[in-house]
Amino acid sequence: MRTIQHFIDGRHIDPASAQWFDKIDPATATVVARVPDGDSRDVDAAVDAAKRAFPRWSRTAVAERSRLLVAIADRIDARRDELAMAECIDGGKPLKRARDIEIPRAAANFRYFASAIEHFHSEAFRTDQLALNYTLRQPRGVAGLLSPWNLPLYLFTWKVAPALASGNTAVGKPSELTPTTAHLLTEICQEVGLPPGVLNVLHGYGHKVGAALVAHPDVPAISFTGGTTAGAEIARVAAPKFKKLTLELGGKNPNIIFADADADDVLRTSIRAAFDNQGEICLCGSRIFVEECAYPRFVEEFVAATKRLKVGDPLDPTVDQGSLISQRHLERVQSYIQLAIEEGGRILCGGGPPSLDKLGQRCRNGSFLEPTVIVDLDVNCRVNLEEIFGPVVTITPFRNEEEVIGYANAAPFGLSASLWTNNLARAHRVAERLECGTVWINCWLLRDLRTPFGGVKQSGVGREGGDEALRFFTEVKTVCVKYES
Ligand code: NAD
Repeated sequence: MRTIQHFIDGRHIDPASAQWFDKIDPATATVVARVPDGDSRDVDAAVDAAKRAFPRWSRTAVAERSRLLVAIADRIDARRDELAMAECIDGGKPLKRARDIEIPRAAANFRYFASAIEHFHSEAFRTDQLALNYTLRQPRGVAGLLSPWNLPLYLFTWKVAPALASGNTAVGKPSELTPTTAHLLTEICQEVGLPPGVLNVLHGYGHKVGAALVAHPDVPAISFTGGTTAGAEIARVAAPKFKKLTLELGGKNPNIIFADADADDVLRTSIRAAFDNQGEICLCGSRIFVEECAYPRFVEEFVAATKRLKVGDPLDPTVDQGSLISQRHLERVQSYIQLAIEEGGRILCGGGPPSLDKLGQRCRNGSFLEPTVIVDLDVNCRVNLEEIFGPVVTITPFRNEEEVIGYANAAPFGLSASLWTNNLARAHRVAERLECGTVWINCWLLRDLRTPFGGVKQSGVGREGGDEALRFFTEVKTVCVKYES
C-alpha cells in the first residue's frame, strides 16, 4: 500500500494533523493508499514556502523556467507506464486510456506552456506625440490550484504549467479521490531540480484543506476545476477578498445531429462523446438531439453500438469502459436512472451493473455500470437538466433548427456543444446562438492547447488555455511615459 505525503518546500512531509484516510481502488473496492488528511496548518506551511520561493522564481529567466518545464514533461513521458497505472488504480478508468491519452496530455501541457511563455508578449500604445503607454504582465504571487478526480494529472498540470511558466509559485490540491499522480509529479519536480517551494502539493478533503487554501489571505489567484456547488462556495469565499478566480465547472452538453450529417462519423463520435471515461468528462455529450427524420435509425444504431461496448476490468486492454469513481458516485448515477423512469423515460439499454462474468473475480465488488441510453423524456425534466456525470445519455428528436437551439440552451449549464451538419451556413448560424464556451462542428473533444477554454452560465467563470491562462496568472499594469516634461 502506498503512502501519499504533502510536498512542501521541496520535501515530502506528513500532515500536521497526523491523520490519514484510505484511498480505495473503485474497480476492486480495496484500499490502495493512505492519504494525508490535510488542514489549515498545512496550508499555512505550504503558502509560506511558496511566498518565500516567489521573489527568486518570478525573476528567474524565462528560458530557465521553460527548461525546467520541458524537463518535467520529459520525466512524465519516461514514467508514463507508472503514472498511467496509478491513474487507473485511483480512478477506475481503463489503463489504455490513461496511458495513451491522459498522461501524454499532462506532458504536453508542460511542453506547451514552456514554449508559450517564450512567445507571450505585452502591448504598447502611442498617444500622439505626447506619450508612450506599455503594459507589464507580472506574476500574481502564490496561485491556489484545485483540481477534480475525473482527469487527474491532465487537469492538474493544465493549471500547474501556466502558473509556473508565468513566474508564479503555487500550492496545488488534487482531488482526495485521485491523489497519486499529483504525488508522483512532486517526485518528478525533485528529480529535475525544481527549486523548493515553487510547487507545493497538499492532500485532503475539499471542505478542509481546499477551503483553507481558497480562504488564505496570501493566495491572490485561485484556479478551480470541479463541480458547480463547490465552485459557488469558492466564489462566495473568494469574491469579498477580491481574489482572481477561474471556475471551470460542470456541464450538460448537447450533441445536436442534423439529418444531413455523415451518419457513420456521427455514430462513432457520439458513442465516444457519450461514454468515454465512463461518461465522467465535463465535456461529454449527454443530451443527444436528433432531427426527427433521422431519429429512428439513429436510436437503433446508437443502442446497438452501445451494447457492443465492453465494460470491465480497467487493466484489460480490450475494455472500453472501467469503473465509476466510487460506490457513492455509482449510487448517485443510478438514482438518476431511477428518476428517469419516474419522469416517464424508457431505458433502451444498460440501467444496471454488468454481470459478474463480465467483471471477473478481481472486479466483482467494483463500482461498474453498463452504458445506459434513455428516450422519451421531456427536454425540461431533471434528468435532462442536471449533470449526471456517468455513462448515461438521453436521446430526443427535434423538428427544426429553432426548436433544437431552444432545447440545447434550456439547461442551466453552458460548457460545450457538438453540432453535426454538412450545411455550412447552418453550422455557423447555430454555433453562434448556442450558449456555451466551445462548439465542436462535426467533431468532439478536438482540443488545441492554444484555444480559450471555459464555460458560461453554471459551467463557470473565466477562461483557461493558451494565452488566456497566461493572462489569468499575470496581473497587467499600464505604464505611461510622457515624451517631454
Ligand atoms: P468537486 O467540486 O467535488 O471537487 C473538485 C476539487 O475541489 C477537489 O480537489 C475537491 O477536494 C475540492 N473542493 C471541493 N469542495 C471545496 C471547497 N468548498 N473549497 C475548496 N476546495 C474544494 O468536483 P469533483 O467531484 O472532483 O469533479 C467532478 C466535477 O468537476 C463535475 O461537475 C465535472 O463536470 C467538473 N469538471 C469540470 C471541468 C471543466 O473544465 N469545466 C473539467 C473536469 C471536471
